[in-house]
Amino acid sequence: MSFSSETKQELCQVIVEKDCCKKAELAAFIHGIGSLRIGRGGSSVYMTTEIPAVARRIFSLCKSCFAVTPEVRTQIRKQLGKKNIYHVVIKPENAQTILLETGLFKETEEGIRINRTVPLFLVRKSCCRHAYMRGAFLATGTLSDPGKSYHMEVNCPEEEYAKSLCALVQKMELPAKVAPRREGFVVYLKDSEAIVEVLGRIGAHKALLEMENVRITKNVKNNANRAANCDTANLEKTMNASTRQVEAIAYIQAKVGLSALPGHLGEMARIRLENPETPLKELGEMVSPPLSKSAVNHRLKKLEEIAQRLQKGGRL
Ligand SMILES: [Zn+2]
Repeated sequence: MSFSSETKQELCQVIVEKDCCKKAELAAFIHGIGSLRIGRGGSSVYMTTEIPAVARRIFSLCKSCFAVTPEVRTQIRKQLGKKNIYHVVIKPENAQTILLETGLFKETEEGIRINRTVPLFLVRKSCCRHAYMRGAFLATGTLSDPGKSYHMEVNCPEEEYAKSLCALVQKMELPAKVAPRREGFVVYLKDSEAIVEVLGRIGAHKALLEMENVRITKNVKNNANRAANCDTANLEKTMNASTRQVEAIAYIQAKVGLSALPGHLGEMARIRLENPETPLKELGEMVSPPLSKSAVNHRLKKLEEIAQRLQKGGRL
């Protein structure tokens, strides 16, 4: 099962206690996957999903919120790879009340109109905003596998609704954005911390932990890689320096002999020649009296300068 599906399964288990939140979540379902179908007895509300747990959740929200028992119709799809479709249907006798109370319909002076934005009267409290977000994500959301990328989005058929949903997420101080898609628009989050925050608020605690685990593993890996790269770079630098020093000393030896050097430099030259790969600090400990790393470095630099002078035909 994909990370997205797992998260949805978890969210379908979230227990909602307050009526205000139940109504907000149901409203998000109606706005996200609801459609009106006109029949002989009037208009019915259809909420359509491929996820059985989502259908069950909508069913129980209708019951506990409005004491209405919707009908659930299953559309079997036999084509390979196609999932069955579940319709939760609110009959005409209850449709108008529920549509008004969940803010899809609004009463105006000219009669009842369709409201194309998130109904603000349902999301005044933060508990209800979180419930609305949960419904919106369960209705048309997707979440990419954190091992691959960080991306959470909710599909919206209309730009006006997408913008109002985006504003709702931004109200929670999360960096949501709207983008056009081939079919409609999406409200999305790309920031891993923001996604973790949303998962926590809508009640997907298992998904949150899983995502945090991936984030930590990724960080550790990145840091380890960085450290490894850093070690290699340092090693190369050291190796380059010591090769240069050994070459310089060998040149001096061939040209004038190490005994021509002042005593302290001659000693350093011999020690370096015998220990071409030894770090400076350890070289310092081989000299008596011992030298600091920077003193060793200083003497080796001197030897390189002498070699350069000799190469240019100069004297010691
Ligand atoms: Zn609430």
